[in-house]
Amino acid sequence: MKKNKMRLIQYAVTIVVVIILLCGIFSIIKRLTGTSSTDKLSSNVSKEQGEVSEKEVDNSVPMTKLSVGVPEGTIRVGETMKLDIAYEPKNATNTELKWSCSEKGAVKVSEDGVLTPSKEAAKSTVTVTAKATDGSDLSTSFELRIYPEIDPSKPMVAITFDDGPYEPTTTPILDALEENYAKATFFCLGQNVGYYPEVVQREYELGMEVATHTTSHKQLTALSSAELETEITDSINALKDAIGVAPKLMRPPYGAVNKDVLTAVGNHDLCCVNWSLDTEDWKTKNADATYRMVMTATDGDVVLLHDIHEYNVAAVERFVKDLQAEGFQLVTVSEMYEARGETLDPGTIHYRTDPTTEVSEETTATTEEVGE
Ligand code: ZN
Repeated sequence: MKKNKMRLIQYAVTIVVVIILLCGIFSIIKRLTGTSSTDKLSSNVSKEQGEVSEKEVDNSVPMTKLSVGVPEGTIRVGETMKLDIAYEPKNATNTELKWSCSEKGAVKVSEDGVLTPSKEAAKSTVTVTAKATDGSDLSTSFELRIYPEIDPSKPMVAITFDDGPYEPTTTPILDALEENYAKATFFCLGQNVGYYPEVVQREYELGMEVATHTTSHKQLTALSSAELETEITDSINALKDAIGVAPKLMRPPYGAVNKDVLTAVGNHDLCCVNWSLDTEDWKTKNADATYRMVMTATDGDVVLLHDIHEYNVAAVERFVKDLQAEGFQLVTVSEMYEARGETLDPGTIHYRTDPTTEVSEETTATTEEVGE
């Protein structure tokens, strides 16, 4: 009996020793070949995404608050935007963010928070999300409206609306512009801005150019210098109250300017912009007539309309689409001058930009193809 027991213990000890030896050999092999298959997979993924370094990330002080400030809700392809990324506490150990977008590949955000939209993202509205990678589960999102890139070698016009805002008509006009990713410039009357501040806010949020048409539509050339000053100052303040920024452009009522008006306007860093194509919408009072006038526009025109007339809504709904179909880019006054390399200096007056003389690359390519 005793002998059998001893043999049993000997067997047991041998088995344990063999197991320990096998484990040791196995772990040496593992070390020699590098990593297990699962480890390999995750390290490859990390390398590809360039997000997590091979070292273990220190998440010991997690974020408790994360916010991303966006300077504007719109951007054009070809532009970049610096985001204002803020987090708490200041000593959070892992502040790396993972960015995603409702439309894959529509935007890129660099490590220092510079957003760039892709060409393919033109004419789309996307939701951009930033997520903490420290396991805190914090995330924040914002909406971004992406306008197409301006091609200076292709035709463009600046559609302008005077005398608004007037909610019943300005709103459907904005709807038509929004739907087609078209921009326009609104020369607002200070007194109307006070009645419909939310309409002006929407103009601004959609990336339209918000400008002044004075406070109460008086003929500036007939005013005393004190009255002139009030007409300008009050309208600037009305816009500042509504959207938080001062306008850069002013359209004098009836287009009436003289040296004194230009000096006074220039003192407020404003540039006067009249027009080169008058639709005479106030005279014809007819959607078809307005539509036909707008469709005569040529490259570089500044087109005058009024957003306070009901009959203009149907005209806008038609010409925005049709101008775009004819190859016109619908841009703001400032965008058109910038694209054409022309300046809008304070105290000067402008009517239109020169048409481009460059031949676009696309036209050249088509001609060559036809030639072959
Ligand atoms: Zn007017």
